Amino acid sequence: MRNHIRHLRTLLSLFLFVMATTGPALAGTGLTLELDRDGCLQGGFLTVRAERAGDEPLVQPVVQFMAREWKMFHQEDGSWQALVPVENMTEPGRYPLAVMDGTQRKETEVRIRPNGLGVQHITLSPSKSSLHATAVEKSRVRAALRTLSEERYFGSGFLRPCEGETSSIFGRKRSYNGGPATSYHKGIDIAAPQGTPVHSTAGGRVILAGTVEEGFRVNGNTVVVDHGQGVVSAYLHLHSISVEEGSMVEKGSLIGTVGHTGISTGPHLHWGVYLYGVSVDPRLFLVRHPSFLRARR
Ligand SMILES: [Zn+2]
Repeated sequence: MRNHIRHLRTLLSLFLFVMATTGPALAGTGLTLELDRDGCLQGGFLTVRAERAGDEPLVQPVVQFMAREWKMFHQEDGSWQALVPVENMTEPGRYPLAVMDGTQRKETEVRIRPNGLGVQHITLSPSKSSLHATAVEKSRVRAALRTLSEERYFGSGFLRPCEGETSSIFGRKRSYNGGPATSYHKGIDIAAPQGTPVHSTAGGRVILAGTVEEGFRVNGNTVVVDHGQGVVSAYLHLHSISVEEGSMVEKGSLIGTVGHTGISTGPHLHWGVYLYGVSVDPRLFLVRHPSFLRARR
């Protein structure tokens, strides 16, 4: 009899163990996917959050969207978050978006709407239009913009980096000297006199401080700041640079001054914000109470 009970007990504990390890996965109830909205404009982004019910270990999840995987980042409240960009040239329409954590997958659909921006015609003087990016400039800028670091430095939000009027908005397609509009404006231009202070839009680490002398012929004197978790900001055409690569900055720290170095028609700050190396509209970071700061701390 005693043997029989022990046997039953072993069977029962084995059954409970199997339930605990496979039950939620089979039921598909453990992983939750949360989006801040059901879609966005071209050149915008979606805040994607994932959580696993209970205290089960969770491998680093990814977002699957536009035939790409976007790494999610751990938040202090135990959730995972990704700011997933929608490239400005994306065809408007409905697209599937999923989170995947190794054993479970949750899918939904998002709607990408057109931003309705037309073509801007720009005339450059022969001396400026004959300038092309050097290999050094291209490779250093590209590597910096694609930085993905686990740390989140943007926790206190973002500010407009410079005083002055917006002279050119994000996203408008561009035609130079009558040529085809194959590119678009990957940032905001803020018109300001040469020497106007430029501040870091958020906390972060300076990952690029490049100068005309080093070969930055198109972007001019350039600073790129990594805000962590795939968010990077860029400041172009600077007159002076007051930070060094590797140094930490806070939201509002002075990083340089407005200039018109590189391809620029006059003194202004070109301010760009990139997610996973994809440029998005910087204005989206200046909203009050942004959803990407909502992760409980
Ligand atoms: Zn610009």
